[in-house]
Amino acid sequence: MANTYQQGYSYVLSSTSTPAAGEYYLNNTTWTSATELKLNNVPFLQFATNGDVVGSSDVDFDSYYGSMGVGSVVFATFSGSSYSWDVTDVTEGTNIVTLDITNLTGPSGTVTVGARPVSFYIQPSGPPANIANDANNRVTTATGTAGELNAESNLVFDGSTLTVTGTINATTKNFDIPHPTKEEMRLRYSVLEGPEIGVYIRGKITGTNIIELPDYWTELVHEDSITVQLTSINSPCVHHVISTNISKVEIGCECGEIDAYYNIYAERKDVDKLEVEYTKND
Ligand SMILES: [Zn+2]
Repeated sequence: MANTYQQGYSYVLSSTSTPAAGEYYLNNTTWTSATELKLNNVPFLQFATNGDVVGSSDVDFDSYYGSMGVGSVVFATFSGSSYSWDVTDVTEGTNIVTLDITNLTGPSGTVTVGARPVSFYIQPSGPPANIANDANNRVTTATGTAGELNAESNLVFDGSTLTVTGTINATTKNFDIPHPTKEEMRLRYSVLEGPEIGVYIRGKITGTNIIELPDYWTELVHEDSITVQLTSINSPCVHHVISTNISKVEIGCECGEIDAYYNIYAERKDVDKLEVEYTKND
C-alpha cells in the first residue's frame, strides 16, 4: 500500500472545548505552545503519493487511525505561513481525534480566536509494517509478499554486533580497522580458509612433556582429527609426539629437556562436516 496524504480545508479555533463538525482546534492561542490539535469530522481530500486524488469525504478516522499515529507529521498553512508538528500520540473519540503534537516548525504567532481558513494535511507515518516474528534488533527479510516482512530470530543486529545463528557463506571474510600504527591508513586482513571446519590452539611447551587440551574439546572436536606440529627452540633436538587423546598431548625429545613451540589443529564435531565440493543450484 502506497503512502497517502489526508488533506483538509477547515477553520482553526483556539480553544480547549469540543470543536464543531468541520473544525479543528488548537489547545492554545499561540502556535509555538500548541500541544494538542482536535479534529472533528474535518472534510479531507485524500492524495496518493503521485498527487492523484484518490478519495474525498469526511475523514474516516477509524480507517486512518493507524497511519495517523505516532510519527505522523501535521502540516498547516495559516495566514500565508507554513507550520508543521510531529504527532506524538493519537486519541480517538466519537468523531473527534485528538493529536498530541510537538516540535513545531514555522513562524511563531498568535491564533486569534475565531474562524480562520486554514489548509492542512497529515503526512502519515506510513502503513504499519507487517513484520512477522517481530522482536528487538532482529533483521528483517523479504517474504515475497508486498508489505510483509519477516524478522529473523537467527539474525540479530544490536547496532554494533551482528549475530548469526547458522552459516555465513561469503566470497571473502575480512576485518577492516583503523590502522594501528599509521594515521590516515586502514588495515584489512582476510581469514585463512581450509576444507574443514577446524579449530586450533598454539603455544610453547617448556619443562613439561604434557600439553593440556581445552577441557571442552571433548564435545567440540573429533579426537581422531587432532594433529600436532612442534618446533624445537634454541637447539636442533628433535621433538616428537608420543601420544594424543582428547584431553592431552604427550611430547618427547631426544635430550629429555622439552622446549618447543606447538600448533595443534582439530576438526569440529558439533556441526555437520563441511561439504567442500557440491552441485551448484541454479
Ligand atoms: Zn630435547
